[in-house]
Amino acid sequence: MPVLFVGHGSPMNAIEDNTFSRAWRDVGQRLPRPRAILCISAHWETWGTLVTAMEAPRTIHDFGGFPPELYAARYPAPGSPPLAEEVRQLLGPDAVGLDLEWGLDHGCWSVLLQMFPQARIPVVQLSLNAAMAPREHYALAQALAPLRRQGVLILASGNIVHNLRRAVLPSGSLRDFNRPFGLDWALEARATFRSLIDQDRHAELADYPSLGPSVQLAVPTPEHYLPLLYALAVKDQDDHLTYFNDEAVAGSLTMTSLLLEPRP
Ligand code: ZN
Repeated sequence: MPVLFVGHGSPMNAIEDNTFSRAWRDVGQRLPRPRAILCISAHWETWGTLVTAMEAPRTIHDFGGFPPELYAARYPAPGSPPLAEEVRQLLGPDAVGLDLEWGLDHGCWSVLLQMFPQARIPVVQLSLNAAMAPREHYALAQALAPLRRQGVLILASGNIVHNLRRAVLPSGSLRDFNRPFGLDWALEARATFRSLIDQDRHAELADYPSLGPSVQLAVPTPEHYLPLLYALAVKDQDDHLTYFNDEAVAGSLTMTSLLLEPRP
């Protein structure tokens, strides 16, 4: 199976028809149909690593101040207790706990609602262990690679450049959130990241605080960046890498997304 890292941006992308959500739909139509999806989202941080193991994960509306249509949106995909157990075995049964409380947060379902709108493919979420250093996340994620051969789509969802405190909306209206606009440091960080990704320099990407001031501004907190490391950690040397939605929005976010595909 291919691997995806998706820049999810505004939760409204779940229900809006825009260039970003259209690209998600296109990818969903183009990919081989997965047996199940393992989602790593910026929006589920826990102490210790957890994997959702319920039969029917709820749709979590983990945001505030959006219109009622967004709160009405549901993604009723089934869970997969067998996949949760498989993930636990791969990562080490002592290192991972089964979770029956969480569900699907918007980092996961906002993308999936566009990508696989029928919500028939089982979805399991893996949490980000807040106690781990970035390089530990990368090492943990490498153990997930065998899932690709078993028809599991690994979908990592965050934003590589993500600094909401520095967000700027030139018109002052949230309606323009998705209008392409990047501050100089955000564009500089995007270029740094792309260059390292293109060269498979994963150790440097995992050690991002030493990549200089623009990257430090781009990643003020780790949670939206770490999912990228999960996608890169399961990259095969021969995978073909394609970027999509590679735009900066609101000055301080990038929607940059990656598709890693096995070569035919
Ligand atoms: Zn987010």
